[in-house]
Amino acid sequence: MKRRDMLRGLTILPFAATLGGDLIIPKKAKAGTGQNSKRNLFEELGVRPFINAAGTYTFMTGSLMREEVIDAIRNTAGDFCLLDELQDKVGEKIAAMVHAESAVVTAGAFSALTLGVAGVLTGNDVEKVKMLPQLEGSGMKTEILIQKAHAIDYNHALTNTGAKLIVVETTEDVEKAINGNTALMHFLNIEADHGKIMHEEWVALGEKHSIPTSIDIAADVPPVSNLWKFNDMGFHFVVISGGKALRGPQSAGLLMGKKDIVTAARLHMPPRGFNIGRGMKVNKEEIFGMYAALQHYINYDHEAEWKLWEANTATIENAAKSVKGVTTRVFVPPLGNITPTLELSWDLNRLPIKDFVEKLRNGNPSIEVMPYDKGIHITVWVMRPGQEKIVARRVREELSAVFG
Ligand SMILES: *Cc1c(COP(=O)(O)O)cnc(C)c1O
Repeated sequence: MKRRDMLRGLTILPFAATLGGDLIIPKKAKAGTGQNSKRNLFEELGVRPFINAAGTYTFMTGSLMREEVIDAIRNTAGDFCLLDELQDKVGEKIAAMVHAESAVVTAGAFSALTLGVAGVLTGNDVEKVKMLPQLEGSGMKTEILIQKAHAIDYNHALTNTGAKLIVVETTEDVEKAINGNTALMHFLNIEADHGKIMHEEWVALGEKHSIPTSIDIAADVPPVSNLWKFNDMGFHFVVISGGKALRGPQSAGLLMGKKDIVTAARLHMPPRGFNIGRGMKVNKEEIFGMYAALQHYINYDHEAEWKLWEANTATIENAAKSVKGVTTRVFVPPLGNITPTLELSWDLNRLPIKDFVEKLRNGNPSIEVMPYDKGIHITVWVMRPGQEKIVARRVREELSAVFG
């Protein structure tokens, strides 16, 4: 299943149950996949660690932080600093890296959305900050325009502020919907191609009516240029996850954009506690970690990494293809988790997807893959070096046990 399908609520595929509770099978956990600490907490707690051949999914704990990020956390965890000073300094560096006027590290893309909207609604008026999510009678604007194709569950992040969503489809709808209560026009990049209005037009419509525009690009690097593309395009704020391809702390993200919005958003964040964002706390570990992640991500060789992903994907594809009756294909999703994705399919009467998924899950080491309606999807981008060989071997073993 692709992220886009999941976000559209298509979790009624045969694995809805699997995606929930069944996944946690406290089998005799065998970390053994490279933990170098002497204490094995997975084993101690009976939590099953696994090789993630699926991708960056929250229910699978996202992605693995880069060494640079873990170093940054380790090197800073032993001292105190002022939270606001750190956000100021890191925010300034990050803003420069992503071509934004200002930036702040948040507790994920979801909270960045809530905080960004909150900042738009209240500006720097502390009395208004204290009122949220109560907008009625406050004089604050109350409406956010979104396209029908962009209406996903995560939009709860927007309505947490008390604002309501006004759903539009066409340019004419937008023109008609805009009124004195329109606070923001929000765009969801992962569904861009399903909507009738594309980025530039959305920004232009906002500009024409003096309404700020925002965009959720949570899962949309690579390409690395997306980090600044939407700031350059004129969106007033942009949010991204820190714990997906950026491989920062999984509980971090970024809000970047116009200085007045980010400054106002920070009134809704800790250390201040009179606001809707007090529970969306990030501490110095996430902030330093996010800074290190972003710096590393921007500076490394993306072409080389892409080639490595292709090579590792081919390793698994070749192993699967060697089994008669198995068809394979590698594709790159157009939006969201843009990484080589291997699709495997076979005669499902002979090997139900669920059985195959469970064989990999219950094997040693445990492996998680992502089912779709005709087979499974595998990505290699959150694997550690060498794990692709283990996945290739296990996939071939389980397929050839039935088809060999
Ligand atoms: C993952 C995701 C989010 C939430 O991001 P977090 O960083 O986990 O808060 C929001 N929107 C989209 C489109 C996503 O893919």
